[in-house]
Amino acid sequence: MSQPRTVIIVGAGIFGLSTSLALRAKGHNVTVFDQHDYIQSRYDPEHHPNGQVASVDHNKILRPSYGTKIHYQRLALESREEWLKMNKDNDSELFVGCGMLRAQPSAHLGALEKETLANMERDGLRDTQFVKSNADDRQRAADRGWQDKLLDFNIPGEDVGCHFEAVLDSLSGFVKCSEACAYLLDKAVSLGVKFVAGADAGSFESLVIEGGPRGTGKNGRKVVGIKTGDGVVHQSDTVIIAAGSFSTQILPDLSYHLESSAGSVATFKIDKTETDLWNKYAPDRFPVLTWKSAPRDQNGKDSGSVYVFPRTENGLIKIGYRGIKFTNFVPAPQGTAFTQDGKWSIPLPYAESKSLPEAATEAIRQFVSIFLPEFATRPFSSTKFCWYTDSLDNSFLVGFHQPLDQAPQLKAQTNTDGIP
Ligand SMILES: Cc1cc2nc3c(=O)[nH]c(=O)nc-3n(C[C@H](O)[C@H](O)[C@H](O)COP(=O)(O)OP(=O)(O)OC[C@H]3O[C@@H](n4cnc5c(N)ncnc54)[C@H](O)[C@@H]3O)c2cc1C
Repeated sequence: MSQPRTVIIVGAGIFGLSTSLALRAKGHNVTVFDQHDYIQSRYDPEHHPNGQVASVDHNKILRPSYGTKIHYQRLALESREEWLKMNKDNDSELFVGCGMLRAQPSAHLGALEKETLANMERDGLRDTQFVKSNADDRQRAADRGWQDKLLDFNIPGEDVGCHFEAVLDSLSGFVKCSEACAYLLDKAVSLGVKFVAGADAGSFESLVIEGGPRGTGKNGRKVVGIKTGDGVVHQSDTVIIAAGSFSTQILPDLSYHLESSAGSVATFKIDKTETDLWNKYAPDRFPVLTWKSAPRDQNGKDSGSVYVFPRTENGLIKIGYRGIKFTNFVPAPQGTAFTQDGKWSIPLPYAESKSLPEAATEAIRQFVSIFLPEFATRPFSSTKFCWYTDSLDNSFLVGFHQPLDQAPQLKAQTNTDGIP
């Protein structure tokens, strides 16, 4: 093991939590700061005042289907193994392997789907994927107990019986996102990670930097800690910024690489007394379902998708739309590295993140009319924006912050939603 270091992590979302556990396992002294008190709120997405944070949510998809990006396929499968191990340690399942049905834009397989299937084949996993129109796949799905999730959905405007092509991926499912974060937080605390939470004590205010003026190069400026909203200075060997869509506000240089944008989320609520719906949309009967409403365009760009999860234990059916991502451009602070006409997009406060633009509502309603017809006239139980951290190439951004500091003292780590 290398010398134990004192590490500060800003952000107790899923990235901050998992990083804290990995570093603690190597013997480092880790303190995580967050502006929200998750020890109190347990990341509860229903009551939390900051429900626009990406990690504060009922469920998120875990899937290895990434078209040509085989490294993400492999990463997702490694991650799946870890979730399966955590399922064994926890009282309730954190990862639910309900499968994912990838409905195509038409009665035929789309280009992205063919790429995914080719990479599954390449890694010897083709047998885990069931193409609805393929007789061998259907037979294998039946042999393995997956046939009831190979659902048929009629293509609007076509003859009855003309269905969307679809592929059922038996490796996928969803993670109970907030529950998983609460579990990891408890685990981190039990292993000695410290948490400092709340609008003052837990809130990042500024980096504490020692050394000469900016740009003095090697052995010049050095990050030696952070100052929090209560004015307290916390010293550390390394500071890690894992603040998701808020990261640019902490480290404006990240605006070269990252932009905050919002995905649209809506829920329906079903009551246990609605027995037919309750049973139909249970995870043991209904998979995660995604649909690309249009094929890849002439420039090779994929249209966004709409997706729905099986109902939660509380009867919530969550739908997400990521066709159009929405931005909130406001004037950027003086000296921000990259702006668009002096503006940048940052997350809206939760109170302003609760209603969806018409384009998102329309896309979700169109999806519902085809795939969840029982809910066609039912009002949403809730709607909200949930904030992505988009990077230029849609990939993870993990690295040392070089312009500020030639020595590896400050690390930025953030991510995108990872869905092509
Ligand atoms: C709509 C939507 C759908 C998604 N769907 C999926 C999916 O199905 N599958 C999947 O794998 N991924 C999905 N993602 C992506 C996934 O949610 C994110 O990758 C993940 O939650 C990001 O975690 P994070 O820890 O990086 O950031 P966040 O969850 O944003 O956490 C950042 C934390 O930093 C804290 N913070 C911010 N500023 C400060 C400050 N100044 N001081 C102290 N603390 C601060 C915040 O309070 C927050 O707790 C989705 C994302 C969105 C937005």
